[in-house]
Amino acid sequence: MTTETATRMCKNRGCTNPVPPAKPGHRPPLTCSDACRKAASRTHLRDEERRQEEAARQQPLARWQVFQPTTRSCLERVAAVGGVALAEHLAEAIRRERERSMEPAAPQKGS
Ligand SMILES: [Zn+2]
Repeated sequence: MTTETATRMCKNRGCTNPVPPAKPGHRPPLTCSDACRKAASRTHLRDEERRQEEAARQQPLARWQVFQPTTRSCLERVAAVGGVALAEHLAEAIRRERERSMEPAAPQKGS
């Protein structure tokens, strides 16, 4: 078995260091160090911003895991159209409705 594919070169121009291996759950790094990443990101600034935006989008999505898939996809659509803040607002409202309906106020059925 060869480890040829495991060795990648730093994306920063002029740097010949290999990049460290990817951490589990992370995309493989493109550069060997933070300094190189910053230097290289000047050309890939938009890509970096998009990744940060995506990370910010993932945050509320993780919190919506408690909802049903239908609700979640609905929230995702709201987030896409009206922004994450609005979707979060809606999610909070749904959460409260859920809490209310889970209160033992309603007469219980004998099981
Ligand atoms: Zn480098």
